[in-house]
Amino acid sequence: HLSRLRLTEPQLKSFLHVSDSDAVLRQAALLDQRIANGEEVGPLAGVVVGVKDNICTADMPSTGGSRVLEGYRPAYDATAVRKIKELGGIVVGKTNLDEFGMGSTTEASAFQVTANPWDVSRVPGGSSGGSAAAVSARQCVVSLGSDTGGSVRQPASFCGVVGLKPTYGRVSRYGLMAYASSLDVIGCFGSSVADTGILLHAISGHDRLDATSSKREVPDFASQFASINLLESKPLKGLRVGVIRETLDEGVDTGVISAIHGAASHLEELGCSVTEISLPSFSLGLPAYYILASSESSSNLSRYDGVRYGNQAVADELNSLYGDSRAKGFGPEVKMRILMGTYGLSAGYYDAYYKRAQQVRTIIQKSFKTALDENDILISPAAPSAAYKIGEKIDDPLAMYAGDIMTVNVNLAGLPALVLPCGFVEGGTAGLPVGLQMIGAAFDEEKLLKVGHIFE
Ligand code: GLN
Repeated sequence: HLSRLRLTEPQLKSFLHVSDSDAVLRQAALLDQRIANGEEVGPLAGVVVGVKDNICTADMPSTGGSRVLEGYRPAYDATAVRKIKELGGIVVGKTNLDEFGMGSTTEASAFQVTANPWDVSRVPGGSSGGSAAAVSARQCVVSLGSDTGGSVRQPASFCGVVGLKPTYGRVSRYGLMAYASSLDVIGCFGSSVADTGILLHAISGHDRLDATSSKREVPDFASQFASINLLESKPLKGLRVGVIRETLDEGVDTGVISAIHGAASHLEELGCSVTEISLPSFSLGLPAYYILASSESSSNLSRYDGVRYGNQAVADELNSLYGDSRAKGFGPEVKMRILMGTYGLSAGYYDAYYKRAQQVRTIIQKSFKTALDENDILISPAAPSAAYKIGEKIDDPLAMYAGDIMTVNVNLAGLPALVLPCGFVEGGTAGLPVGLQMIGAAFDEEKLLKVGHIFE
């Protein structure tokens, strides 16, 4: 993996920080030694992991892709990172992202743009584009991302890897830089469903450092893979699959639509009963998401004042120290979100925007509940198109936001979703991957992983 990194990183730019290779090799040698001595090692022993740079690591910089945190080294590891290390995983570096997770391409990173390994003139998706590209190019085995409105699932789709957004509360957010706290989750990337499930198992579970983390028991997602008989003719017999009609509508590329239809037929061959279902509130997700996410972010980002963390502007008076640190530290996308969010939360506008969006959120939650009472899983594309060109949407924020239509509803409802490759469209030199999204009931990651493993 270190040599893959050396070979591919100059073109891809997936990492903002790569660990010292001697230190990485020492860790690996130590694990080898422990194995040779017959000592127990964890299930991630020697597994090379990339970590999105908005997840705190004590021994490496953690910038969140922002100048405001340039040079910042947290005093602690995020719980997910701590667990990975305890189980023997080797963190090889910190991956690039849109500043604080706000974006869909990594072009909003303050430091660099990551390229899509399938076609380096295209975006890897975002905001966890670095983590997706790194797994796709085999710079690491698995990686961590974060998903507030699709930031694990859409880049997984663009880079042709597996991405999993867990149920809200399944994985501790301790040490994840807050974007929109009621939507944020840490998620996993892998090149297979099994790898992704093993990583999810490693990082899941209750954490007293995150009051929103769930006390639910964590099933051993990993053990089921060995017991599934892939040679059975109808291994998914009886499974009810609902295809969300509104996701195969206008505005979705025809190549994407036919890949999803192909995936639906494949699920039928595997024994599923596939029906088309309707989520009438689906299109309300996008406006509700952008109001809620911006509102929460405007509040969360108030902590970056030049005093507590990172870069501090030179100023002779406190208000200009705050103002200058923020003016210099934040990029344009983040500033736009803070402005929108502050507006949405203002007295006089609150009822029209924030409160209304919260009401829409409840409607969306209820419609998913009904659909998932009648179906085991729901399927849709992960994004309306395959990876597009770097620069193509940078001047049109609304077009960029519209690309999140497939994923934001799932965050508003707090549900788990798995994205995995299901086909290709024309483009690049070898075609471009298309991702299938499977949405499950809350805390039913086990079923998603099982179906995904059989599907792939
Ligand atoms: N693209 C979406 C946004 O900019 C989602 C980002 C995310 O999930 N972090 O808000």
